[in-house]
Amino acid sequence: MTASRYDLVTVGGGLGASALARAMAERGAKVLVIEQERRFRDRVRGEYVCPWGVAEARELGILEILCRACASELPWADLGFGPRNLVETTPQQLPGLSFSHPEMQETLLAAAEAAGAEVRRGVTVQGIEPGEQPVVLAAADGRSERIFARLIVAADGRGSQTRKWAGFILKKNIQPFLFAGVLLTGVAARRDMAVFIFNSDLGSVAAAIPQNGGRSRAYLGHPTTAAYRLQGPEKLGLFFAETAKVAPMFGEFYAKAASIGPLASFDGGDFWVNHPYRNGVALIGDAAATSDPSFGQGMSLTLRDARVLRDALLAGTDWDVAGHRYAEQHDVYFQNSHTATLWFRQVFQEQSPEAALRRQKALPLIAEDLTRVPDHIFSGPEMPLDDSVRSRFFGEA
Ligand SMILES: Cc1cc2nc3c(=O)[nH]c(=O)nc-3n(C[C@H](O)[C@H](O)[C@H](O)COP(=O)(O)OP(=O)(O)OC[C@H]3O[C@@H](n4cnc5c(N)ncnc54)[C@H](O)[C@@H]3O)c2cc1C
Repeated sequence: MTASRYDLVTVGGGLGASALARAMAERGAKVLVIEQERRFRDRVRGEYVCPWGVAEARELGILEILCRACASELPWADLGFGPRNLVETTPQQLPGLSFSHPEMQETLLAAAEAAGAEVRRGVTVQGIEPGEQPVVLAAADGRSERIFARLIVAADGRGSQTRKWAGFILKKNIQPFLFAGVLLTGVAARRDMAVFIFNSDLGSVAAAIPQNGGRSRAYLGHPTTAAYRLQGPEKLGLFFAETAKVAPMFGEFYAKAASIGPLASFDGGDFWVNHPYRNGVALIGDAAATSDPSFGQGMSLTLRDARVLRDALLAGTDWDVAGHRYAEQHDVYFQNSHTATLWFRQVFQEQSPEAALRRQKALPLIAEDLTRVPDHIFSGPEMPLDDSVRSRFFGEA
C-alpha cells in the first residue's frame, strides 16, 4: 500500500470531473482524476448541450476546445412548433452544441491533463473516508493506494457509489416512462437542427440530434405501460416503427438509417441529493442529481456544477465553507430545473384523465401563443418560475 496527497481528487473522469479538474489545475491546484475506464465507449449518453449549458462551457474555458476537437454548433431547434433560431431567441444568444459523448470525454480528459491535472485511467475507487482529512481508496492491477485529498469530488455518475459511501440520502421522483437511444448513420434530417417532438396522445417523445461525422442520435421516450423495452439490436425495427408513430417526419428521417452503436433504454425520473456537500466530499454532475434524460438537462447541470464549485473554491481558503456554498446554490438551480421539466411532463406527456383535461385547456392557448411555454430547457433554471408562469403554461390564466 502506497500513499499520496492532492488538493482535489475526482472519483470519475467524465464531463463533470474533467471540466472541474481542468479549471482547478489551470489555477494551480494539485488535482488527481481517477477514471476506471481505459477507453471510453458509447454508453448511450447525452450529446446535446442546450444554450444555457453552452454558456457554462464557455465560462469554464472548454467551449473552444470542444469545438476544435469534436463538437458541432446546432443553431436551430424544433420542439414541434417549427424551427427556432436559438442564437436569436435565447438570453445567452448561443446555439446548442452536439458531440459524440466518448469523444467529448477523451477531449476533456486530455485538456485536464494538459492544464496540469494528473489523470489515472484503469484505476477504480473502492471506498472513501470522509472527514477533515478525506481519503480515497483506489485500486489498480492488484495494488491499492490511500490517497489524501483536501476535497474529494464525487463525479462518478448516475450509479455513484461515492454518494453512498459518504452517507448522502438519495431522493427519487420516479416517472412511469422509459427513454431509449441509439446512434445512427444515414439519417435524412437537417444537420444544423436538433428535433424534439412530443406526442401527447401516446405520451411519447422522439428526438433526432445530428453529430459530426454524419452520425445522429435517435431517442424515443415512452410510457412504461408499453409492452416492450427497447434494448438490444433485435429491437431496432420496433424502435423505428414506434418512433415514426410519434411524428411521421421520423419515418422519413430513418428510412435509410443504420445503427452504429448499442440500443439501450433507461428509467425516467429525477434522482438527487439535497445539499450535495458534507465532510470533505462534494457531489457533482449525475452523482449530485440525475435529471430525467427526456429533457436533455444533465450535461448543462453538470457543467453548472463544475463552474459553481470552481468559483466557490477559488473565492477563499476554507474549502469546507466553499463546499457548503456550492451545495446551497445547487439546491436552488436543480430544483428549478426539476420543477420546469415536471411541468413539461404534466402538460405534454402524462397519461391520465386529469392530464387529458389539462391539455384541453393548455394546448389551444399554446398554439395561439408560444410564449406560454416556459423556456427553462434552452434558457436555463434562472428563468422566472412563479405561479403566473405556471398558470400561463397550464392555460389557467
Ligand atoms: C439515455 C440518456 C440520454 C441523455 N441525453 C442527454 C442529452 O442529450 N443532453 C444532456 O445534457 N444530458 C443528457 N443525458 C445526461 C448526461 O449523459 C449526464 O448528465 C452526464 O453524462 C453526467 O456526467 P457526469 O460526469 O456526472 O457522469 P458520467 O458521464 O457518468 O461520468 C462518470 C465517470 O465516472 C467513472 N466511474 C464511476 N465509478 C467509478 C469508480 N468507482 N472509480 C473510478 N471511476 C468511476 C465512470 O467510468 C464514468 O466515466 C443523457 C443521459 C442518458 C442516460
